[in-house]
Amino acid sequence: MSESTVLDKAHCWHPFTRQEQWCAPDHQPLMISRAEGVWIYDENGNKYLDGNSSIWTNIHGHCRPEISSAIAKQAAVLDHSSYLGLGHPLASRLSAKLVSFFPEKTLERVFFSDNGSTAVEVALKMSMQSRMQKGEGERVRFLAFDNAYHGDTLGAASLGGVNRFFSRFQQLGFETQFLSSMADLENVDTSDVTALVIEPLIQGVNEMRPWPKGMLKELREWTAGKGIHLILDEVMTGFGRTGKMFACQVEGVIPDFLCVAKGLTGGTVPLAATLTTNQVYEAFLGPAENAFYYGHSYTANPIGCAAALASLDIFEKDGTFETLPGKIAIIGQLLAELEEGRQSVLEIRQCGMVAGIQLRQGLGEAVIREMRSFGVITRNILDTIVFMPPLCISKEEIGFYVRALRAALSKVG
Ligand SMILES: *Cc1c(COP(=O)(O)O)cnc(C)c1O
Repeated sequence: MSESTVLDKAHCWHPFTRQEQWCAPDHQPLMISRAEGVWIYDENGNKYLDGNSSIWTNIHGHCRPEISSAIAKQAAVLDHSSYLGLGHPLASRLSAKLVSFFPEKTLERVFFSDNGSTAVEVALKMSMQSRMQKGEGERVRFLAFDNAYHGDTLGAASLGGVNRFFSRFQQLGFETQFLSSMADLENVDTSDVTALVIEPLIQGVNEMRPWPKGMLKELREWTAGKGIHLILDEVMTGFGRTGKMFACQVEGVIPDFLCVAKGLTGGTVPLAATLTTNQVYEAFLGPAENAFYYGHSYTANPIGCAAALASLDIFEKDGTFETLPGKIAIIGQLLAELEEGRQSVLEIRQCGMVAGIQLRQGLGEAVIREMRSFGVITRNILDTIVFMPPLCISKEEIGFYVRALRAALSKVG
């Protein structure tokens, strides 16, 4: 065992991990020490394709020189400055850039935080507090979908519907009514609802399940008609995953709140943002107690903002959105071939550059373990394999990925 493995087993505690198995003497955990493009390298120099974009964060490949040098340059000039009562130029530029993806007078204000959970938490608290300050204090409940995932902090988790993660803490947090489909909206007493929260186009943690086409647009109309805020959690879907910059643009929908995180910095350093409208923002003007008393020490960290600006520039420089349709088609085609005549593959669910490969019960874990020996690292969600490479993946690398999956299935399935 390497020194880093010994120290890890003695002192580290990993998320979503059964530590007893992790620390077992015969378990050899991978220690990742380097990355470049879609490839990550372990301590021993073995090379793997990053099949889930390092837990859904990476966009343009690892260690893109433009982002790395923007980070280095910013770290030498201004590493951090409090955003409480102070501003800095990069946060100003990044806010303007983020709202520029939407028509004028729609999403105009940007509130920064650190991760996807806090981006959602901010939207929930803003929605609720805005009601209190607009004489709509009876609107205290939220609507969310079964099997949704919105993060792990208590407030965000109370909107989560993945029972194996959240049932223990479900009675804490925000009051939430869960829906299974659009049909359930008929049974909602809307008078005391402040907002509806959804992962647009596709639920991620719920084994990559796309919503029916047109549903988001319908939801926008329904929420607007009832005076309910629409909060879109684009923590996974944002920054090109679905083929557009944001998933809501696929159906021409503009929410009241847009939450982004994971891919905001291209998958380099933590940063998140919650975008909202001036209607919401204006409820926080006036007396001192109306302000939004929420924030984190590293809110709008300048190094994070520099990384985000550099990442957003690369979309233009690389012409990312022109390259995506071809890649999305190839992924669809290769995965469909994988399904043919193979009983272990039950369903392929694809939404843009993201896919879930549903396998026969009991195969998920074994297949991803086998894929490692064929040079691909990804994760399973139960028996669904997550297929979510960085957007910069080449057609040859897509081929490599699917061949590894095929080889693993042949061995296991
Ligand atoms: C990952 C994720 C979150 C939580 O983001 P963190 O940065 O892990 O806190 C929230 N919502 C969705 C849809 C996600 O995929």
